[in-house]
Amino acid sequence: EFKIKKMDLKKYIRDIQDFPKPGIVFKDITPLLLDVDARDYALQQMLSAVKDKPIDKVVGVESRGFFFGMLLAQALNVGFVPVRKPKKLPYKTIAATYELEYGTDSLEIHVDAISKGDKVLIHDDVLATGGTSKAVTELVEELGGTVVQCNFLMELTFLKGSDRLKGNEIYAAVTY
Ligand code: AMP
Repeated sequence: EFKIKKMDLKKYIRDIQDFPKPGIVFKDITPLLLDVDARDYALQQMLSAVKDKPIDKVVGVESRGFFFGMLLAQALNVGFVPVRKPKKLPYKTIAATYELEYGTDSLEIHVDAISKGDKVLIHDDVLATGGTSKAVTELVEELGGTVVQCNFLMELTFLKGSDRLKGNEIYAAVTY
């Protein structure tokens, strides 16, 4: 079995203070996207967390969930499904609404993207409060799919997103 050298992925995740607004520390993954070795290492970490689990589709969450979501789908040799902000997807959609700090937002998925019985891997870059991913699990389940794992580059554990995703398996390549 081939083993790759252990890497510290945190070196490739940059903190941006007060972005997009005061008080938020934004986790910028663009340095990770730039580095071939770190990017591949992150991908291999996430793949090893689903090995031996049958997966039929990868669902990636707009927009930073698209980067590794597509790489995961390609490596697993399965279809990729984009979940997007309202009014971006051109075909028939269903929507799920979730709470923000102020107000609500929603996410949409194409109605034909998931078939009944599909085993689904959900991917996003950051698990924060879990509201986003929870909404995505609802979309997948409404279309008859089963969520096998919610998979992230990183989890901000102090925001307790895993509580919101109770009942779902969670994997994060990096935790803060
Ligand atoms: P949440 O619904 O609170 O789990 O937030 C997750 C979504 O918001 C993901 O799509 C992330 O891309 C984004 N997000 C939340 N917090 C951060 C952060 N500190 N840095 C970068 N992205 C974040």
